[in-house]
Amino acid sequence: MKSSEIRDKFLKFFESKGHTIVRSSSLVPGNDPTLLLTNSGMVQFKDVFTGTDSRPYTRATSVQRCVRAGGKHNDLENVGYTARHHTFFEMLGNFSFGDYFKRDAISYAWELLTKVYQLPVDKLTVTVYQEDDEAYDIWANEVGVPKERIIRIGDNKGARYASDNFWQMADTGPCGPCTEIFYDHGADIWGGPPGSPEEDGDRFIEIWNLVFMQFNRDEQGVLHKLPKQSVDTGMGMERLAAVLQHVHSNYEIDLFQNLIKAAARETGATDLENKSLRVIADHIRSAAFMIVDGVIPGSEGRAYVLRRIIRRALRHGHKLGQTKPFFYKLVADLAIEMGAAYPELEEAKDNVAKMLKAEEERFGETLETGMKVLEAQLAKDATGIDGATAFTLYETYGFPPDLTADICRERDIKFDQEGYDAALKESQELSRKGGKSVKDAKVEYSGEKNKFVGYDSLNHSSKVI
Ligand code: ATP
Ligand code: MG
Ligand code: MG
Ligand code: MG
Repeated sequence: MKSSEIRDKFLKFFESKGHTIVRSSSLVPGNDPTLLLTNSGMVQFKDVFTGTDSRPYTRATSVQRCVRAGGKHNDLENVGYTARHHTFFEMLGNFSFGDYFKRDAISYAWELLTKVYQLPVDKLTVTVYQEDDEAYDIWANEVGVPKERIIRIGDNKGARYASDNFWQMADTGPCGPCTEIFYDHGADIWGGPPGSPEEDGDRFIEIWNLVFMQFNRDEQGVLHKLPKQSVDTGMGMERLAAVLQHVHSNYEIDLFQNLIKAAARETGATDLENKSLRVIADHIRSAAFMIVDGVIPGSEGRAYVLRRIIRRALRHGHKLGQTKPFFYKLVADLAIEMGAAYPELEEAKDNVAKMLKAEEERFGETLETGMKVLEAQLAKDATGIDGATAFTLYETYGFPPDLTADICRERDIKFDQEGYDAALKESQELSRKGGKSVKDAKVEYSGEKNKFVGYDSLNHSSKVI
């Protein structure tokens, strides 16, 4: 089943259940200064859930373009390492604004997955929030999922991808328990069921999250019941496509294979399994759609997220031997894959390509020189990159520290983040005293309520506080 048919079936199914089809909103959240980029389908409905906005419908369904490469959800570091994470993905969602609640949300999801998409029932495992006996009971006694495939999960913040079945918009605001549906891709893939020590693997892949919005958390952390109980669900289109196309990794689905082939054509790579091709195919989607939605590469906030994504893609192209601008040429291929579903992409494609080309030209020389300096240092000491070198690379050659760290991670060698931070601090102090100008590697972004404090740790998680 092709991506276009998957989207179509989803929307039609929920339309037949009384939902209004709502178009994807922009990647730049229109109503939310606390968010860098739209990271889920609920973003455009946030105020409807809290009650400060209303719509002429109480049931909605959408296919929302999402980016998780900065801010609260950040999967940039996972791209190229897991079978299931992208920076850009499409979220299929259905929403109830004080209309149906747990029973219908669960039975709709089950009906769609097992009857419409015809997923084999015995491959599905579900999780519920630890204390949510109501959801447990619906799964066990109404839907009839065997008890050994219903797992209770708390708000576990332990492991890297730890399942967390209490969804929360932010420190305060609407929140509630959730129930998630996982697909078992089979015993030959490493990984364990949710909640197990091996849950980080790619065997049991989370496909759908159903959030039951029940509470509003106040500043003291106390939960108050919301006047209306609502539902917010999100299913990764690419993850569902992988299941329906009988492949394991999202990168093996039709849409991605075509982008990977295009990336191979432009870089000269021959091994289609090459990780760098996957990264490039992922990054052209997030970069292009961010530009479509009005983001321009720059040094702050979401503009910096975009710049960082583009530079990562270029570095991977360079790794494959391409030293000339190539990334921008993939916009045409992306438009072939996604232009029908997103006319705004089709319309903007020439401008998007132009902007990417300019950014590639701007960064080309820096990349070339930086890589040479970095390789020369590694020829002297292959165990890692010390902080002072990383800082020189940045300060003298403009080579971003997150690229240096990324290269170190890829080669399984040490990146001295502490040393880098110390060198940066020292240099900033010097410049304060002596007036010497130093570029500031920390990116400050002041939204109305939030402050984006940049990328200052090895995992580069950008923080919005
Ligand atoms: P994971 O645990 O795999 O990182 P998540 O719990 O962070 O996923 P949710 O916030 O619950 O994801 O988002 C709802 C759905 O969106 C997920 O069930 C998944 O199908 C999809 N999804 C989430 N993050 C990504 C991503 N980076 N790339 C592709 N699909 C994603
Ligand atoms: Mg996640
Ligand atoms: Mg999860
Ligand atoms: Mg989830």
